[in-house]
Amino acid sequence: MSDPATADTHDVLRIRGARQNNLRDVDLEIPKRRLTVFTGVSGSGKSSLVFDTIAAESQRLINETYPAFLQGFMPSLDRPDVDLLEGLTPAIVVGQDRLGANPRSTVGTVTDANAILRVLFSRFGDPQVGPPPAFSFNVPARKASGVMTSATGEKTIVREAIYHGGMCPRCEGRGSVSDLDLSAIVDEDRSLLDGAILVPGYTADGWMVATFAESGYYPPDKPVREFTAKQREDLLYKEPTKIKAKGINVTYEGLIPKIQKSMFTKDVDSLQPHIRAFVERAAVFASCPDCGGTRLSEAARSAKIRGVNIADLCAMQITDLAEWIRELDDPQMAPVVTALGDNLASFVDLGLGYLSLDRPSGTLSGGESQRIRMLRHLGSALTDVTYVFDEPTIGLHPHDIDRMNDLLVRLRDKGNTVLVVEHKPETILTADHVVDLGPGAGTAGGEVTFEGTVDRLRGSGTVTGRHLDDRARLKDAVREPTGTLEVRGASSNNLQDVDVDVPLGVLVVVTGVAGSGKSSLVEGSISAREGVVTIDQSGVKGSRRSSPATYTGALEPIRKAFAKANGVKPALFSANSEGACPACKGAGVIETQLGFMETVSTPCEECGGTGYKVEVLEHTLGGLSIAEVLALPVAKAYAFFAEGEARTPAAATILARLDDVGLGYLGLGQPLTTLSGGERQRLKLATHLGEAGNVLVLDEPTTGLHLADVENLLSLLDRLVDAGTSVIVIEHHQAVMAHADWIIDLGPGAGHDGGRVVFEGTPGDLVDRPTTFTGKHLAAYVS
Ligand code: ADP
Ligand code: ADP
Ligand code: ZN
Ligand code: ZN
Repeated sequence: MSDPATADTHDVLRIRGARQNNLRDVDLEIPKRRLTVFTGVSGSGKSSLVFDTIAAESQRLINETYPAFLQGFMPSLDRPDVDLLEGLTPAIVVGQDRLGANPRSTVGTVTDANAILRVLFSRFGDPQVGPPPAFSFNVPARKASGVMTSATGEKTIVREAIYHGGMCPRCEGRGSVSDLDLSAIVDEDRSLLDGAILVPGYTADGWMVATFAESGYYPPDKPVREFTAKQREDLLYKEPTKIKAKGINVTYEGLIPKIQKSMFTKDVDSLQPHIRAFVERAAVFASCPDCGGTRLSEAARSAKIRGVNIADLCAMQITDLAEWIRELDDPQMAPVVTALGDNLASFVDLGLGYLSLDRPSGTLSGGESQRIRMLRHLGSALTDVTYVFDEPTIGLHPHDIDRMNDLLVRLRDKGNTVLVVEHKPETILTADHVVDLGPGAGTAGGEVTFEGTVDRLRGSGTVTGRHLDDRARLKDAVREPTGTLEVRGASSNNLQDVDVDVPLGVLVVVTGVAGSGKSSLVEGSISAREGVVTIDQSGVKGSRRSSPATYTGALEPIRKAFAKANGVKPALFSANSEGACPACKGAGVIETQLGFMETVSTPCEECGGTGYKVEVLEHTLGGLSIAEVLALPVAKAYAFFAEGEARTPAAATILARLDDVGLGYLGLGQPLTTLSGGERQRLKLATHLGEAGNVLVLDEPTTGLHLADVENLLSLLDRLVDAGTSVIVIEHHQAVMAHADWIIDLGPGAGHDGGRVVFEGTPGDLVDRPTTFTGKHLAAYVS
């Protein structure tokens, strides 16, 4: 890959002929060890360039350096469609996907913080209990024997090694114990023969239920509600007993211990989806009575420093913990205290000081997860790495963005190449180099429209250049509310008994610094109300075969139109049923299982990857086959079905809504698994556009949107409100705040320094008397 003839290879990352997804033969040079921001309208090709080409190729090259044997265990990565990539360094993608929902991981365990705290307690705790693992809730306390191999290869037989783990034995370090919700397991109004047992696999006519029905302990044709106390006890809890059912000797055991053993002791993620759904429905979790939810054994909790134990510290808000640590002035503790102090300071710098170390990582938002990942890299000694960020300012209030930018600069100054996909002008202005993609989205994009410094971007005339210094104008008049949604005494998480009247029939923006309590207010007190539809960025249900066409229901009328035009059945145009290619069964790819190794998927040759039977593709509508239609971008498909030979109003209506939410560039049949969080949210929004009168709740709908796209979003929200829908958005984008009819500002700070309504009123009032962080930033923005 290296070209000795080029002297400056070491200073640039050179790309030639990049054609991944919509990229149009992109040639580009990116300065190394600089901060480069990639921008451009949604769908212009930023991710295709930065993630699918640069980061993907770096990862692939790294995988290739492993022995072939190990490569078998790694996901097989296709080479991106690019002629040349020169000067790559190992890339680390710091993305927005949520940190795993592993019940054992917390903010403290996924960073270095808990490890340092364990060292502190192991050395200075009183009484001194043991080595650092004695304070880990992920290490059990147990005796074991076996062979120990030393670093030099010597083997010693260890008869009884005692592991001094700190895991609470009762809850096994989970902090909670599960109890069962009986109503999810037995429908007491039915008899056993009529399906009283609601457990998956226990069908009324199946053999599992037969064991119960023929046990003779109770009448199988009577509703469970009418059982005597003894019969009920036998059904639910009887200890294992040998009985005869259907003439066979079997062991009878009460339903509860039986399913506890077969379903509830397993790692939930390893269960089949329908069983997992049942377990999640039936299991109610309660704080562990032994450890009080701290996950730690009694021994681990007994050790104290200045009267507090490690669990108390992990439960503190990080800003408070940092304060406590600062006050430890014992010189012997200094090295550990400094290490921990630096670590905690990074949390605060990233705007995460409101978290606590014991917060389960599964409860963090995408933006919080990304910032936690970033924190791990800030402490890293690696240099000359290419860091790739996807909208690192997500979830951050203008007040928090400056510190995020500082951190990106710090990573660069350590000698790393920092590539950031971002739309916020504050971050673009920090960049050493800007790459603007466009000019439009999808097939109308895919080109580099500008590369250079911010100053030159301003004069470049590109969409980004024109919008860079945008200032919003406040509306002349705000809308009058048609009603109110009253919130009284809201106190979930950090909310301090909040009373607030949310006006209906208008556009409401809920804002405040990260951690101030916006999600707590909206999710805890608004989303659960009747008539409220919450549209978030989480994954959309469905398989790899789901696409915008199937998700929105547009495929139904399209199939019917194909069927009518060709005089055949609509099911023929479904790659999930009659129309499925026999070779790949409609998947479009053939999966080959290579023994114990990774499955490899290759496009199906029989159907050319379309998933359809060859005969089906011979039927056309308006000159296109069903596969050709599904390959169209949404906007083109709209034009195709709106008028002319293929006119299908039912499909056109749905496609128009997709275009309305700014997704006109998506392929109609593009797998939903390829969509970003922002795109998923807008896709969900599209399916609700037809329903006037609802209350719609959106969480940062500007995620993934370029400054130019935000204007379209605002006009869409306006149309929704004008049609009678109440719209409540959590937002930090100042153009959206300026456009609101009503602002609810939470704060003043984060965590226990937040949780109150610090302002409620019109944007005009906020700007006239700017007392809050939001007010000050907005006043500067609109002036
Ligand atoms: P951006 O990051 O600028 O929003 P993307 O790079 O995600 O844009 O998308 C550029 C174009 O490529 C869009 O038309 C998008 O629909 C298409 N695209 C992105 N990923 C895939 C994929 N995995 N398969 C097919 N098309 C894709
Ligand atoms: P915002 O949406 O304004 O960023 P949040 O409502 O997410 O703020 O958080 C407000 C406070 O509540 C923070 O201190 C946060 O750590 C806490 N919090 C939020 N969600 C949870 C949770 N699932 N468990 C415990 N604390 C939480
Ligand atoms: Zn416990
Ligand atoms: Zn096929």
